[in-house]
Amino acid sequence: MTCAIREGAEIKIWHRLDHLRGFKRQRAMSKNGYPVKIGILGCMAERLKEKLIEKEKSVDIVAGPDSYRDLPRLLAVTENGQTAVNVLLSLDETYADVVPVRLNKNNITAFISVMRGCDNMCTYCIVPFTRGKERSRPVTSIVDEIKLLSDQGVKEVTLLGQNVNSYRDISQQTEKYETNLAKGFKTVYKTKKGGLRFADLLEKVSSVDPEMRIRFTAAHPKDFPDEVLQIITERSNICNQLHLPAQSGSSTVLERMRRGYTREAYLELVAKVRSVIPGVALSTDMICGFCGETEEEFQETLTLMETVRYHTAFLFSYSMREKTTAYRRYKDDVPNDVKKDRHTRMLKLYIQSCHVLNQAELGKVHLVLIESINKKTQQLVGRNEMYLKVNVDQTEILSEDGGKRAIKIGDYVAVKITDAKASAFSGVPLYHTSIKEFYRDKCYGNEIVVQL
Ligand code: SF4
Repeated sequence: MTCAIREGAEIKIWHRLDHLRGFKRQRAMSKNGYPVKIGILGCMAERLKEKLIEKEKSVDIVAGPDSYRDLPRLLAVTENGQTAVNVLLSLDETYADVVPVRLNKNNITAFISVMRGCDNMCTYCIVPFTRGKERSRPVTSIVDEIKLLSDQGVKEVTLLGQNVNSYRDISQQTEKYETNLAKGFKTVYKTKKGGLRFADLLEKVSSVDPEMRIRFTAAHPKDFPDEVLQIITERSNICNQLHLPAQSGSSTVLERMRRGYTREAYLELVAKVRSVIPGVALSTDMICGFCGETEEEFQETLTLMETVRYHTAFLFSYSMREKTTAYRRYKDDVPNDVKKDRHTRMLKLYIQSCHVLNQAELGKVHLVLIESINKKTQQLVGRNEMYLKVNVDQTEILSEDGGKRAIKIGDYVAVKITDAKASAFSGVPLYHTSIKEFYRDKCYGNEIVVQL
């Protein structure tokens, strides 16, 4: 399975192919074991079809992201020693009726793909070329999958899509909802009409199991109309954590990136999000060294990061991808050492800011969903609403029936934060709880008697 979004991801695959080629040769010479077939699947297959077949003679299958249903036929084709290829992009493939196999049935978290493709055409991005046009899964199939996961004991799902909040189920036609855009944002495509939108999807999925946490990624800032913010604040099982990928803090760079907003519009959205969802944790993606980025423009990225203060940030140096608009229109003219230096400065600022933000949580009580045990320390590891790790000792704590019981994976626990690093917390587990109970206590200020 491959990714083409950055050069580094593709380089890894080329190295992996070197290794697999040797493995395939060895297996062909040995008398034991089945012959090996090598298949390149996903976005890199889509982007480099010819190059992969020409350069990598050992590859048997090249399958793009929309041709996985064709895999049995493609495998059959390779029986005659031919290379099998299908990189056709589809306008409607969403794999809605394919229920994913859960490799680890004990996992209490799961990912659900709700839409595919992207119509935004940001100038630096390869996704519209490798994933094709935007299309969404019907709400009913998503809700059915969530019901199934809930029955299997899953406690948290993350809704996935390239532009997840642009979701629109057009199989459910409605007259309402013409635009989905937040104020100050525009798109390169025509406004889509009718259908159920992301706010409707959130409303439906969060109703399936009020004790199941809902997250979503990757979002685009343009698709945060009031209704989406409203439903997040109304439903306590939708995590107060939003990904608002800014990409740059400079309006001129954003214009060259064709992101459809200015620095000011982005900051206005952040202010609105914070006023509607108090305590919300924000995350972002930032790119430094995009075509023509001056030091002044980069400084604006730093000041934006200082102003917003993200809990999580994914920071990248720009790497130019063939086929993109930037490849055709601009020059990748920021030297590598400058990109590297800017990346280091972004990272430093981000870590400082995380430190300050996380220190402010000391002494507060967080709702933590316990996900695993750290084999080294034997501590339990969970996540709070901000999606940050929280480590706690294994112990018995006050349970819902007034007795005491040990904490296990899948439990919601109220944890008092006692230590804060840049990307993780440690704390004292106080009592077993549930989403409903925890927020009722929070909302009405109930006093909780805790036996430590
Ligand atoms: S919105 Fe995201 S996926 Fe779509 S083109 Fe822009 S960066 Fe790429």
